[in-house]
Amino acid sequence: MSYKRYHIETKTAPLENAQIFKTIVNRADFCINCGICQTACPYDVHERNPDYRSIKGSGVRGQGSEKENTSSFVPHPSPLTPHPFSWIDLPQMASPKNANCTTCFHCVNECPVGALSLAANPDYKTHGDDYYQTQKVEAILFEAKTGRVPVSGAGYRGPFAGKGFDGIWTDMSEIVRPTRDGIHGREWISTAVYLGRRPKRLALNGKTQAAPRCRELGVPIIFNQAPPPVNDPELTAILLEAAQAVGTLAIVEGTSWPAGWASPPAIPSFNEKTWLRAPETNPGLLELDFCDIYPEDWLGLLKEAKTRWPQTIIIIKVPLDPKLAYSLVRFAEEGVDAIHLAATPQGTTKEGEHLTSTVKTIDETLVDHGIRDEISIIVSGGIAAADHLPKLILCGADMVAIDVACLIALGITKFSTERGALKLQGPLMIPPKTLGVQRIKNLVGSWRDQLLEILGAMGMRDVVRITGDTGRMMLHEDLDKEFRALFPKPPNNWDPTYG
Ligand code: SF4
Ligand code: SF4
Repeated sequence: MSYKRYHIETKTAPLENAQIFKTIVNRADFCINCGICQTACPYDVHERNPDYRSIKGSGVRGQGSEKENTSSFVPHPSPLTPHPFSWIDLPQMASPKNANCTTCFHCVNECPVGALSLAANPDYKTHGDDYYQTQKVEAILFEAKTGRVPVSGAGYRGPFAGKGFDGIWTDMSEIVRPTRDGIHGREWISTAVYLGRRPKRLALNGKTQAAPRCRELGVPIIFNQAPPPVNDPELTAILLEAAQAVGTLAIVEGTSWPAGWASPPAIPSFNEKTWLRAPETNPGLLELDFCDIYPEDWLGLLKEAKTRWPQTIIIIKVPLDPKLAYSLVRFAEEGVDAIHLAATPQGTTKEGEHLTSTVKTIDETLVDHGIRDEISIIVSGGIAAADHLPKLILCGADMVAIDVACLIALGITKFSTERGALKLQGPLMIPPKTLGVQRIKNLVGSWRDQLLEILGAMGMRDVVRITGDTGRMMLHEDLDKEFRALFPKPPNNWDPTYG
């Protein structure tokens, strides 16, 4: 078998109904159809419409109505006549492609008759919600469309602080050298992670050691089931095929587990209602969703599952809660292979604590009990941007399970995630399978490239080496406290002019 380097095949996958744009380009009726804006715009916003040629001889100047296909004669420099202009017939200007506009105003400045103007798109802020803000939705759509890393071109203009993920700064001590070496393959940085149980040490005393019960994934990203009410077989089919293509896994509702897959990239998930319908054969991987079961019953169910499926990698899904840290140590000791910590869709515990601090607490508790390295931790909920992935890994996650981000990548941009539930505004529109699979592949490819950038900037060659490495991150909250201790609040009569 020949060596194959891990690679995600990305290619442009535009989705017509998934375009968010800030600016609307207006062309006034008195446009003379000269085409100067077409030449001026570097992003092909202005084009002619070959279906609407003007009618020679009508003598009407201007853009006219496309429906009536009225004429449009323009002054045009001609090499054949001494006169600087000759009147020629050209296709009319088409409606501007607003989604391409970067608001540079070049065409507005160049238009000889002042027919162009730019206006804010009133629909722009209606995408996403207060957590999945429009800029985040826009970034995911770009990543899913192109598979590339979004670059603003003018540097980051936001604050270098904030709550939750925005309050975490990562170690960039190696950034002095080209950080894109990892992306461009000039150096190899591994993003492979293991899901499942790994032995604590090798047994070298002649005893036979059981094979590790774990699965290697190409990226530290798996696909979570979309939060209710979304439970769509077409969506599941897209996620399974994308998971297969990028070498990862998709958690699927257990009763719809596609047992026909030869090597299923699926983790069938069963809860207290569907538990009895779980397969008797070894499914390879299995998630037991304990989120709606009393914690007192968890251990009994886990033991039953271990007896029923001794060869299966068993993941337990529990709500993200720092109070459960010691219970999770017990589960790890009882043989669970992986723990799925489920935050709310807005990335908090039920009490509103941000997931990063809770994941850190749970990771540290498992480390203190000497069991952390034997199991895997999956974190889901509120993972809305590429930078959330390395930040959660630094806090102690082995991998993340993304859900709403996949929905956005598939063009579902009008929703809300308030009060712990996903509410769609309008019907669920799933794109054709081939297009949907490519967009999910693009999203994962882009997030992986951004992970490679961070690993390169840290000088790390393997993502597993940063798991729980909190020394490689700084919390704005802590730094702020240190700063204020050194420089207490100035007195009320302090004049900054004189120090
Ligand atoms: S403002 Fe700039 S990007 Fe937008 S249409 Fe005009 S030239 Fe193109
Ligand atoms: S530059 Fe102005 S007048 Fe010329 S085609 Fe464009 S909008 Fe019309």
